[in-house]
Amino acid sequence: MPAGEALAVCPGSFDPLTLGHVDVVERAAGLFTRVVLGVAHNADKAGRHLLSLEQRLDTARASLAHLPGVEVDVVPGLLADYCRRRGATAIVRGLRNGTDLDAELPMALLNRDLGGPETVFLAAAPGHAHLSSSLVKDVARHGGDVSALVPAPVLPVLVAALGT
Ligand code: ADP
Repeated sequence: MPAGEALAVCPGSFDPLTLGHVDVVERAAGLFTRVVLGVAHNADKAGRHLLSLEQRLDTARASLAHLPGVEVDVVPGLLADYCRRRGATAIVRGLRNGTDLDAELPMALLNRDLGGPETVFLAAAPGHAHLSSSLVKDVARHGGDVSALVPAPVLPVLVAALGT
């Protein structure tokens, strides 16, 4: 990475990407020169995702295309290894509540132990703090309207995957 540039990795499953995720990426893009939305690929967990890796990558790319300096990539194994390979300055995670914090603290410390960069936490925007991928799936599964909760490119893929 060129000197003076700072790259942040926003890792996650993004199954599916929500407007809460997009908000975190937009705000990270204001703090770092470049931002990678890192879509976790865990072969063992593949069957547990609603959307395939390709669907999560394609919809994320379409949803973030308006943001210069932001790219979407696969994180194939350990996040710390990926960050080292990319020369990342920071991992960025969104915090919605105390439950997120409890889950995030050990991961942040472990990533540092494994040679990864510091983790920077961004407080979820008040309008998005109640949003999670699992809630979005629950609402959509029962035929609820999630068009105000996910980016436009995600909606048809989500509806098709659920057959709703
Ligand atoms: P994971 O599968 O690792 O929990 P997710 O795809 O659910 O990943 O979320 C990725 C990151 O986005 C996490 O840091 C999570 O806390 C954060 N996040 C999820 N939803 C929101 C939201 N509505 N606002 C802010 N951050 C969020």
